[in-house]
Amino acid sequence: MRTELIAPDAAGIARAAALLRAGALVAFPTETVYGLGANALDRSAVARIYAAKSRPSDNPLIVHVAGPEEIGRWAEADERAWLLVDRFWPGPLTLVLPSRGLVGDGTVALRMPAEPIAQHLLAHCARPVSAPSANRSGRPSPTTAEAVLEEMDGRIEAVLAGPPATVGIESTVLDLTGPTPLILRPGDIDRLQIAKALSADVGSAGGSQRSPGTRYRHYAPDVPVRLFAGSEDWLRRELAQALLATPEAVYIGLAATAPAGARGLLAADLRELQRSLYGALRDAEVRRVPVIAAWPAPSPEAAGVRDRLWRASGGHVTQEREREQQKEGSGEIS
Ligand code: AMP
Ligand code: MG
Repeated sequence: MRTELIAPDAAGIARAAALLRAGALVAFPTETVYGLGANALDRSAVARIYAAKSRPSDNPLIVHVAGPEEIGRWAEADERAWLLVDRFWPGPLTLVLPSRGLVGDGTVALRMPAEPIAQHLLAHCARPVSAPSANRSGRPSPTTAEAVLEEMDGRIEAVLAGPPATVGIESTVLDLTGPTPLILRPGDIDRLQIAKALSADVGSAGGSQRSPGTRYRHYAPDVPVRLFAGSEDWLRRELAQALLATPEAVYIGLAATAPAGARGLLAADLRELQRSLYGALRDAEVRRVPVIAAWPAPSPEAAGVRDRLWRASGGHVTQEREREQQKEGSGEIS
């Protein structure tokens, strides 16, 4: 199959929408990452998403809608859902709600993207669009049209080639099917923001620190990623040593914790780290060099980027306390 690159002008958006309606797979830009879209009402098109991504069939897809007025058609929304939609839509918040009529386990995950090209596409298509990230399963998500082609060239009909994603990691997924709202996947909209909007407690299912081991390798490039967690001073020292031992490795983290002479992604703040993370992982992969990454300190705003780094590393973390204990154990500290 030849994958067509479509310009994101009015004619291109109309063409992409027509392809989706005809059962084709079309990748498109959103503010989080590029999505791999199919008409959610067309079972065979949706099945082709799983084949193109080699995605496990038990991992459901997010359904993208053109506006809040679509919610009632596909889901049962309660007062909490409407409060959150008022506050955060369009944007990187996916709501899991009891489903009305769409195939699945009785629930549906809905999101309205903020990227105007995605909004025009959904409006033109006049169908809900199922779209996971446009990468092969387990790999870093694409944040540019070029990265989509690296993942999907020859596997899908078209890519609507828009601008790079501005958020850079996938949406926050919030389960509203039970009495307590539960974050299933952390993202740009954090637990405190949601709790504040709802004036209620918000739980989280499987925070990054609770997920043990390599079972959770995901969002991962094809090169080793080693993660370091600790205070700024400790990080600068440890990272300098690690980079000395593997001089070809690149650094990914905040500039504040980068050792002198580090090359790679030295992000000014969490926002930049989040936006540039997947691109930096892809760069390391293209150059076939390992990654040495500094884990940002835990905070509600850092939860998304911590989760992606943790999974990219396959749980390979060196923690300050453990390291010092190892040194004590081996008599390195007098
Ligand atoms: P992706 O499509 O790769 O961005 O991932 C979508 C995320 O949303 C995955 O973590 C899914 O497990 C989750 N998700 C999608 N639909 C549902 C649903 N109905 N219930 C719970 N989680 C969902
Ligand atoms: Mg994904």
